[in-house]
Parts: sequence; structure tokens; C-alpha cells
Amino acid sequence: MAKDLRSFIDGLRASRSADLVEIEREIPRDLFMTLIQEKLAKEGRYPAVLFRNVAGHGWPVVTGLFSSYSLLARMLEVDPTDKKRVLSEYMRREAGPIAPIAFTGTTAPVHEIVMTGDDIDLDRLPVQKHCAGDSGRYITIGCMICRDPVSGVANVGTYRHELKGRTRMGCMMNPVQHAATIRNRHHGAGKAMEVAVFIGHHPAYHVGAASRGPLEHDELAVTGGLLGEAVELVACKTVDLKVPAHAEVVIEGRIAPDSFENDGPFAEYAGYYGAPMKVPVIEVTAITHRRQPIWHDLFPSFREHTQVGVLGREAQLFRRVREIVPTLDAIHLPPSGANFWHCYVSLRKRVQGEGKLAGLAVLGSNYDVKHVIVVDDDIDIYDDQEVLWAVATRVQADADCSIVTNSFGAHLDPTAYGETRSERGPMTTKVIVDTTRPLNREFAQRVRPAAQLWDAVNLRDYLGPGGAGAADGRP
Ligand code: MN
Repeated sequence: MAKDLRSFIDGLRASRSADLVEIEREIPRDLFMTLIQEKLAKEGRYPAVLFRNVAGHGWPVVTGLFSSYSLLARMLEVDPTDKKRVLSEYMRREAGPIAPIAFTGTTAPVHEIVMTGDDIDLDRLPVQKHCAGDSGRYITIGCMICRDPVSGVANVGTYRHELKGRTRMGCMMNPVQHAATIRNRHHGAGKAMEVAVFIGHHPAYHVGAASRGPLEHDELAVTGGLLGEAVELVACKTVDLKVPAHAEVVIEGRIAPDSFENDGPFAEYAGYYGAPMKVPVIEVTAITHRRQPIWHDLFPSFREHTQVGVLGREAQLFRRVREIVPTLDAIHLPPSGANFWHCYVSLRKRVQGEGKLAGLAVLGSNYDVKHVIVVDDDIDIYDDQEVLWAVATRVQADADCSIVTNSFGAHLDPTAYGETRSERGPMTTKVIVDTTRPLNREFAQRVRPAAQLWDAVNLRDYLGPGGAGAADGRP
């Protein structure tokens, strides 16, 4: 059995963990699903949520699949309590891509239902408006496939698509993204670009699509590596592209040269609305889907947005920082820092100045990171409270904080500035906060429970199964 969205949800359900919440009650299509996610977050809960009954639509909607490191652990089938293992397992699998293969059955699941011509109606999909200030309804976690006319290699990436009627939807591509380069190559030759957007698959597909590499990099082979099995591909119905056979939904279409529509305002990952812009338009030529499909959505102004790409970025940082700081212990881009703007680094410091060196290595390896906090390896960098405790108790700002002004940063940062400083632009000020303790003198002894006792005592033995400790009442 190929790993797909259904097998992943079934696995979550079977684990009876707090990582899945299923909601039977009917819910309005717009604004409410994100509201439920926000309400859960206020309780410190970041599960995948399956809405079984969306008003006016027969399709269940799943969202929140990337909301926690625990869910990323489940994607990789590793112990969700072993956070460091998540990144090491990701790096191991990312390093072993598996090439896609052809689907060999008679009818691919994603082709069980095929709509072309007058049957095409994007409004039949339970696409929601996520936030009140959004310009409309957006598909937020589609994976768009197109083919580079130069190399012939297919590219997969995640772009947002605002619905623009029964057969048209926008396609917001950042100019630095591969699809924008490929579109320019098509349109420069006066040709339309064929695309196929698949929605709803095992989360490894989306993490694979977010993996970073050169234009010729095969995201579906990375996905295969992450899954531990080859992706099965089937030919599209109306465009000359291949799509994963076990996806829930595929939207096929073409982007003509010089066809643009408005996109935005749009609630973005850092918690602010992004400004409107003009984006290319996809003219839809077919919608295909499985029987009894599940729609996959993602809340874009929420931690799951950036967590799709967090392991790829952490892996890149880990490799680069370890080259110069071999005692690197762990690296994490915490959701509390809009995922990409804060970086926590822990290391087993051996020489004076090594903490700051690790901070410099981070800043030199990724332009989105704005604040680096470096800690000793007794600090759990997956726990914001521990990191902030280290900042509170191990830092004197004049010695331990270093400021780098006027460097390139994240353009969605509302405080970013330009070279004249009085205007908006892509530049930010970077800070390294080095909380590592000095090596050349005694430092106060930390109060901790005795390690042997800690390991020997299981809290559940005292609280009972499903007792006061389980936030959602599950065992
Ligand atoms: Mn690519």
C-alpha cells in the first residue's frame, strides 16, 4: 500500500494521541476552521484537525498536518518525544532520494473521478477564506508541478492559489522560486506553461516539495527518500505532466503569458497581512479526484505554514554550522520566532568564543534568521522557556550580544528597512545572543532533579492512564 493522506490520518487515529482531533459538528466553510485552530492553540494544543462536516460540502477537510514537531516526527515514523531524532532522521532520509516510478494499476486513485469542459467548477472544492482581511478563498497547500523546458526536469513547489471563478485561479510565485524561473522560460518563448496542482497526500510530499536544491533538483525523489518508497506517477488527462497517483485531488491547467489577476491582501506566516500584488492565472483544464475525497488545507497565518519547510532549513543550517563548530549539539527554528526569524543553537563548548562563532555561522548560512540564541547543551532548545531562562541567567548584554546592522533579511518582516533606513526594504538588523557559560571560571551550579530519579519515575504511574495529565482526556 502506497503511503498517502488516508494512511497518515489512519495512523494518527490508531495512535490515539493528542496529535489528531476529529470534529463531527457542522462548521461553516469560511473563517471557522482557522478559528478552531486558534482556540486549540490558546490551550497549547497544535493537533491535525479533521473537520468531517463542512457546511454545503460533502468533503471532509483536514488541516494542521504540520502544526507541531510531533506531527513532523509522525511523518517520519519516529518517536515524537525524541525531538533531536526528528532532524537526524530527516537528514538521513533526505540524503537518500528514491526516483519516482510509473503507476501500474488500471485506474489511478486520483483519476477515479474526472471533470473536464463544462463540468469543471472550482467552487465544488471546499476551499476556504482563512482570515477576515484576505482578498478571497485560497488553496494554500497544493503542490504545483511544471516542467523546465531547458532541462526537461519536473519541478514541484507549493504556491497559493486564489479562486477566481469556476475555471480560473491565481498562482502566487515568489520570483526566487523555481516555478517563476520556469514560467519566465516558457513565457519568454511566447508559450503557455502547463501545470498540475495536487492537493491532499502524505505530509512527506509537502515537506519534499519544500526541500531546497538547484533547479534540476527532483523534489519527488526527495519525497520518495522521506517516505522510504518510490512515488508512483500517472499521466495527467489534459496536460503533458505526471502526478502522484495516490493524491486526493489534481487540478490541471495552463498559465498563459501576460495573464494576471490580483492576489491579496493575504494573511501571511509571520502573523501580518501581506500587500496585494499581481500574479499569473491558471486556466483550469481538468479536475480529477478520488472517490470520497479528503480536502487538505493549511492555515497560512499559523505555525503550520512555515513548519512545512522547517526541517529542510534546519538540516541546511545543521550541516553548515557543524562544518565550523563540530561540537554543535542541536539546532532549531522555533515556531515562536515565526519559525524562520529565531534560531536556537546548542553546543558542547570547548573553546572560548565558540558560542559567538556558532551564531556567526548561522547568520552566514540563512538570510531569514534575525536573532540567534546560542546555549550550552544542558538547555533544551525545543522548549522556549528553557532558552529564555538561559537568556535571563547567563547573559550580560554588553558582552554577550552582538549586533550586525543593515543585512539582507525577510521581506515580510514589518520592521525591515532599506538602505536609506527611512524607507521599507529587505534589510534587517541581526543579533547573536551568546548564553554559553565561560570556560575560564566556575559558574553557578544549576538546580536539577537527580538524573537517576528522573529516569526511574514515570509520571503516568502517579497520575494514572488518561488521568489528570492528558490534556484532551485521551489515554
Ligand atoms: Mn525545484
